[in-house]
Amino acid sequence: MALDPPTMLTITIALAAAAALYLAIEWGSVREPSLLFWSAGFATITIGSTLALLRGIGLLLIGIWFANGLLVVAHAFFLMGVLRFTQARLSRAWLLMILVWLGLLVLPVGPQWSKVMLMVNSLLVALLTLKASFLLRPHGKSLSVGAVQLRYVLLVHGSFYLIKALVAVTPGTLIDLASFGGLIIQISLVEGAMAIMLIALSMTGTVRYRREERIARLAARDPLTALYNRRALEVRATHLLKAVCPLRPGALLLIDIDNFKLVNDLHGHAAGDRLLIALSEMIRTVLPERSLAARLGGDEFVILLSEASHERVVSLGSQLREHFQAYARETMPTPQAVTLSIGANLFDQPPASLAALIEQGDVALYQSKRGGRDSIRLVDRTV
Ligand code: GH3
Ligand code: MG
Repeated sequence: MALDPPTMLTITIALAAAAALYLAIEWGSVREPSLLFWSAGFATITIGSTLALLRGIGLLLIGIWFANGLLVVAHAFFLMGVLRFTQARLSRAWLLMILVWLGLLVLPVGPQWSKVMLMVNSLLVALLTLKASFLLRPHGKSLSVGAVQLRYVLLVHGSFYLIKALVAVTPGTLIDLASFGGLIIQISLVEGAMAIMLIALSMTGTVRYRREERIARLAARDPLTALYNRRALEVRATHLLKAVCPLRPGALLLIDIDNFKLVNDLHGHAAGDRLLIALSEMIRTVLPERSLAARLGGDEFVILLSEASHERVVSLGSQLREHFQAYARETMPTPQAVTLSIGANLFDQPPASLAALIEQGDVALYQSKRGGRDSIRLVDRTV
């Protein structure tokens, strides 16, 4: 089968239309605005490629100048989508591109016309695409892995257009835009079809990856305090607990607010929520490196320490209790003091499971509560 330019263009039209539709449908479920820009980009390519077919019947202004201009517009849409995705901004200097393109209209039609046209067109596409690729370089957690594929696909596509611009002005290269004459134009049509598929797929992949990451992050956190929840703690504790040995003992502190119900009853549920948030902030402040903290539920929190010692556990527990009691007394006074009870255990062998460890902490916490609350009860299993 001969892949003549009109056939290639027809394939391009079909692929670009499918990509535009695919990204629009994806937007319907993901609601990421970048997808709409990218979809608009492919829709523009569909229109541009359709107009390019009109060269065959001699409509050169529409078939070349207008159709190629739409290819630049399509890549501008791709860049806008990336800008939206990365929350970046562009300087106004980029608007000069429009002037450059309009300038081509006054170009005298002659033997060099196709060459200059192709060079300017390719340079503009290359600039827009390479800028988009550059914006997707890793510079934030959410961009570090997910956007890599799109970044490289755009880099290759942009570099192809840069080479195309250079080849176009190389003496002796045959370029005839009116009849799609010349090898570079033929190769470009094939590259275009491939690029459409790769770019569209990487675009959805990029958005989906970030969405999955966001969902995973949300699923690991307690919505009120943003501390880990129990499930997330279990996943992250495995590594820490395995490293426990006599030289590096571990510790678990189970913390429960005393008389918390009084805060809810006397100051309202919202005040209770604020107190839980304040406690989570205090925990974050005192939390040593390589330690974990989580909210197990209600007014119960847990801290898991690596490289712990009897003194460190007691000092951390006392610090928390003092800060918390002072804060609660000042902001939400109650007839009975709102304080912290802590059940802790220190161990130098990896425990059977985190659940077993929490159960032991619960026993110590219960003893602390039974002993009159506002205290820390530490079971030292290293001696
Ligand atoms: P104790 O001294 O024995 O610990 O009693 P307490 O009053 O602190 O109450 P307890 O620990 O038995 O129960 C915790 C209470 O915390 C029960 C519930 O009303 C309240 N609570 C649980 N989750 C939330 C929450 O997200 N926000 C608020 N404001 N209150 C909560
Ligand atoms: Mg309580």
